[in-house]
Amino acid sequence: MRPLMRNILVLFTLTLPVLTLHAAESEPTPWGYEGAHGPLQWGNLGPEFSLCDKGMSQSPIDLLRSHKIGLDDIQFSYKDAPFHVINNGHTLQELEPLSETVKSRYPKHGQTVVHFDKDSTIMFDGDLYLLEQFHFHYPSEHTVDQRHYPMELHLVHHNERHEAAVIAVFMEEGKHNPFFETFLEHAPAKIGEVIDDHEHFVNPNDLLPKRRSYYRYFGSYTTPPCHEGVIWAVMHDPIQVSAEQIQRFRTLLGHNNVRPTQPLHKRFVLESQ
Ligand SMILES: [Zn+2]
Repeated sequence: MRPLMRNILVLFTLTLPVLTLHAAESEPTPWGYEGAHGPLQWGNLGPEFSLCDKGMSQSPIDLLRSHKIGLDDIQFSYKDAPFHVINNGHTLQELEPLSETVKSRYPKHGQTVVHFDKDSTIMFDGDLYLLEQFHFHYPSEHTVDQRHYPMELHLVHHNERHEAAVIAVFMEEGKHNPFFETFLEHAPAKIGEVIDDHEHFVNPNDLLPKRRSYYRYFGSYTTPPCHEGVIWAVMHDPIQVSAEQIQRFRTLLGHNNVRPTQPLHKRFVLESQ
């Protein structure tokens, strides 16, 4: 049995593609994955999204051109967390008293998110990062030689300077995945629904491939406002989920949530040997 980590909350939000958010103090610009609010238009939707168009270090990218070197292993220390599942329909802002800087970087909608509040960390590139949340994309956002995987997991972390590190894991069609099954079972179908389940625990370690070699590069968030300065590690090996599970996730989401790959410009992609 895994030790209980009582203080860790896991929150799910299941959200919709193009959403006009309820009037708050500031009215966020609506964006989505299709048509007039889709990824090709993000940079035109508002001045706060200009990086989506003009940024020189945007994500995702195609990972074909990489340089093999001896990168340090990422040290994962993820803890078990009980499920506290919420579908709040549009945003994560009610969930945690986060700083404005961190909050502004969260995916606001169009994603299904598991939110962590503390204790799970990684040591990456000489820095300690705290896990904030993870979520999934259908299909994958990063590509290898222009090839998409069926899905991609993003584990989003930040360090004490509020710099972000995202670990990405490709998901290929294969064996049934028990962890992903628990996730699918707990994702509430209705907006506003909350599910508390203290019988089930999750540990994101179960979502990592056995071999921990990875691609590393500097990029951005893949959702508006496309903030840069994000260090990415894309795990070389995919994990497996069944065709049926992929289909269920797609149905749950109701749309694709993928941003097209962005130009590399002057960046290098490093790959551990
Ligand atoms: Zn993502």
